[in-house]
Amino acid sequence: MTAGPTRRDDLPVALGRACPGMRVIVTPEDLDSYRSDETAFSHPGRPLAACFPRTTADVQAIVRLCGEAGVPIVARGAGTGLSGGALAIDGALIVVFTQMTAIVDIDPANLTATVQPGVVNADLNTAAGEHGLLYPPDPASFETCTIGGNLAENSGGLRCVKYGVTRDWVLGLEVVLADGSAIRTGGKTIKDVAGYDLTDLFVGSEGTLGLITEATLRLLPLPPPKLTLLAFFPSIAAAGAGVAGITAAGIVPATLELMDAFTIAAVDDAYRLGLDRAAAAMLMVESDLGGAAAERDLERVEQACHTAGAASVVRAANAQEADWLREARRGAHGALEKMGAARMDDVGVPRSRIPEMLDEITRVAQKHNLRIGVFGHAGDGNLHPTYVLDRDDPAAESRVDVARDEIYRAALALGGTITGEHGTGLAKKPWLELQRGARSVEVMRAIKQALDPMGLLNPGKVL
Ligand SMILES: Cc1cc2nc3c(=O)[nH]c(=O)nc-3n(C[C@H](O)[C@H](O)[C@H](O)COP(=O)(O)OP(=O)(O)OC[C@H]3O[C@@H](n4cnc5c(N)ncnc54)[C@H](O)[C@@H]3O)c2cc1C
Repeated sequence: MTAGPTRRDDLPVALGRACPGMRVIVTPEDLDSYRSDETAFSHPGRPLAACFPRTTADVQAIVRLCGEAGVPIVARGAGTGLSGGALAIDGALIVVFTQMTAIVDIDPANLTATVQPGVVNADLNTAAGEHGLLYPPDPASFETCTIGGNLAENSGGLRCVKYGVTRDWVLGLEVVLADGSAIRTGGKTIKDVAGYDLTDLFVGSEGTLGLITEATLRLLPLPPPKLTLLAFFPSIAAAGAGVAGITAAGIVPATLELMDAFTIAAVDDAYRLGLDRAAAAMLMVESDLGGAAAERDLERVEQACHTAGAASVVRAANAQEADWLREARRGAHGALEKMGAARMDDVGVPRSRIPEMLDEITRVAQKHNLRIGVFGHAGDGNLHPTYVLDRDDPAAESRVDVARDEIYRAALALGGTITGEHGTGLAKKPWLELQRGARSVEVMRAIKQALDPMGLLNPGKVL
């Protein structure tokens, strides 16, 4: 290796020298597992190498060396993303955070947890649960996805209808910037309004503004066990009216999820739960108020569902059955994947417009003769239309792209968004300006330019 600035080809060796003991991989076979995420029909590049930092100091050294060598960086958690944020870029270094798994502290006196970014969402909740505490954001991928990925995507989940998204539970971050310096954006204080809110800037920035190396998160005392109800509807429109009715009645359930007939059948095939396969749609509603209050909540939900035309309403017989139902809902994407090549999408609308959004998805499916399974966090107005195509359909990707465009435009026309929780990444980039407007995108570019003038961090993603 020559003296002076690190050259591109020397980067892997230089990384090993700067961070002794850090795993660095370079062969195409080893790198293969770190090129893609869960976004179907994606086209990942060929990275130069991948490395697995263990400390903030490692990450700082990595960023500085990449800056010298002019090598772009793609941050990566578990690779469960659905908008292509962690897809490899040609010649990039993939910085995989899965070895930064320390739960630095759980602080019951302040109701906080401080963690490294590679901690798996479920592991944080196991640790918090030992103190009688809960970290509410729970993406359906919670058993595998990392807190770093959750922060970078501002992820949602099944509990968001009551507890909000990842952003609502972040008090402060440690972030390594593109020049290798590290900053802290907040700490354990609940109220803190000094200067611009940099925490909010980095949450949802998809690895394009800085690398998150630690996070201080809010926790909640564990709520009581949930009561669970399923309502089956004769039409998808009636289920949409059920969602609107529950919200309009001022009920705030802990979970309000929707599945259409196609998804019910796929899930029932996969999990054998005896769901009502004659129904056009199903709502799963949960209350975590506990005891009589939860009973009263679900009685009101039941009324709202009947008013909207529910054909039947059933309660989970016990906690185990409720667990199975929740697991089945979380497995909806996997169940649809068994039916063909499945691409899960993500749009959001104001909750009162859910029935219209469901109509639009049905219209697009019929117009393009596509199978689109619909499920999602209906209580948040957040739906996941999932296109399921024959695996050997050579036109699958382009057929999906035409439908996607129409569905995003329909969501925007209803006052909604092209992505409620999966992020922009590469998948939604072409529609960002349509939603936000040219001037807003210019502001985003100015922020990117200020924080990452060399375009080192996940270049080409989001913007
Ligand atoms: C079956 C299934 C169900 C899902 N359900 C949900 C759901 O209910 N709600 C939801 O919101 N999402 C859901 N997702 C999407 C996905 O799980 C989330 O986006 C998750 O937060 C990604 O975490 P990850 O660790 O896999 O991140 P990755 O996919 O590895 O990365 C995601 C993004 O974060 C960036 N990143 C990762 N770590 C860091 C870091 N330390 N610093 C800076 N940037 C970083 C990456 O560059 C990339 O842009 C689901 C996915 C699947 C496959």
